[in-house]
Amino acid sequence: MSEQILLSTPHMGADELEFVKEAFDTNWIAPVGPHVDAFEKEFCQLIEAPHAAALSSGTAAIHLALQLVGVGYGDEVFCSTLTFAATANPITYLGAKPVFIDSDRTSWNMNPELLWDSLKHCDRRGKLPSAVIVVHLYGQSADIEPILEACERYEIPLIEDAAEALGATYKGRAPGTFGRVGIYSFNGNKIITTSGGGMLVSEDSELVEKARFLATQARDRAPHYQHSEIGYNYRLSNVLAGIGRGQLRVLSERVAARRRNFEIYASALKHLPGIEFMPEAAFGRASRWLTCLTIDSAAFGADREQIRLVLAEQQIETRPVWKPLHLQPVFAECECAGGDVAEELFTRGLCLPSGSNLTTEDLERVINAISAVHQNTQKISFSRIL
Ligand SMILES: *Cc1c(COP(=O)(O)O)cnc(C)c1O
Repeated sequence: MSEQILLSTPHMGADELEFVKEAFDTNWIAPVGPHVDAFEKEFCQLIEAPHAAALSSGTAAIHLALQLVGVGYGDEVFCSTLTFAATANPITYLGAKPVFIDSDRTSWNMNPELLWDSLKHCDRRGKLPSAVIVVHLYGQSADIEPILEACERYEIPLIEDAAEALGATYKGRAPGTFGRVGIYSFNGNKIITTSGGGMLVSEDSELVEKARFLATQARDRAPHYQHSEIGYNYRLSNVLAGIGRGQLRVLSERVAARRRNFEIYASALKHLPGIEFMPEAAFGRASRWLTCLTIDSAAFGADREQIRLVLAEQQIETRPVWKPLHLQPVFAECECAGGDVAEELFTRGLCLPSGSNLTTEDLERVINAISAVHQNTQKISFSRIL
């Protein structure tokens, strides 16, 4: 039996273990320490963000971001619908309600025109959302400028969920550094990983300082334990920050490898009828964190789910594109502006194995498996005709 090819797995560089060893040698085995400080500083340098706080997860970073821009009980928060549930879950932690916004076809991310229309509508009705969360999906930036303009026009803070977009650019700059707050994730399947972890960035040094304060149980400055606010235990471990420092050094190589995966898949499969790859929008450079494509079942001869199951039998892991949040049972009560584009991307969209550690043989196996599905459907329809 052939070995399993997974969607996206951790890929360590040469220095991570040395940094971890240093943490052990110096006994900095705590959610504080020199690696945490250095990881924040090096991360800021890499993406050209002024201030950053290293946290235990991307979800924790979104939670703190929402709280720090003032989202509270009974508020509404606009949020991309085509994303992972972790984008929207923290909205509900604060007693607020998500309102979802559909994608556009050029980037698969939040449609700026729909955002404008929805904000206009809310303004007329007299209640605006307290924040907007835009997601940069699968390593591609959303069209940030018009989104930022809309938010500025209505004085609404923009939070960027760049969990999947580290290493991408928008007009030469890192997505996540445009809005009031940006967040990143270092979960095991992301482009670089600390096993688990996240980062919150902002131009506002006080906001980032406040994030650190809340992330360490909101301890007031006092020799005893004193608290004037409710805090969280959200700080990143110094051991894991050591892994992160090593991973930052190989980020550009990881982006190059994932873009190469995409090129190989696209050149081998794009000629097949009914297959279209996720476009790369003109305003930026995608990291191609995951290679995604859509399948028009009528033209291809099989639908997304049939392909996924055939590949799974051959030990190849693929995943449907995110199920839009407005279709999730847990968010069934929430409103959504539009929704057709995200729904279609979900129905037709498939994410291929995309790790930076895949071999050419792995990629060939995936390509051959998908081509074979198409060929077999041709044989079946031929035999029907005969
Ligand atoms: C992974 C992910 C998150 C959550 O990050 P964690 O570090 O796993 O908590 C949030 N949003 C998106 C879009 C993600 O892909």
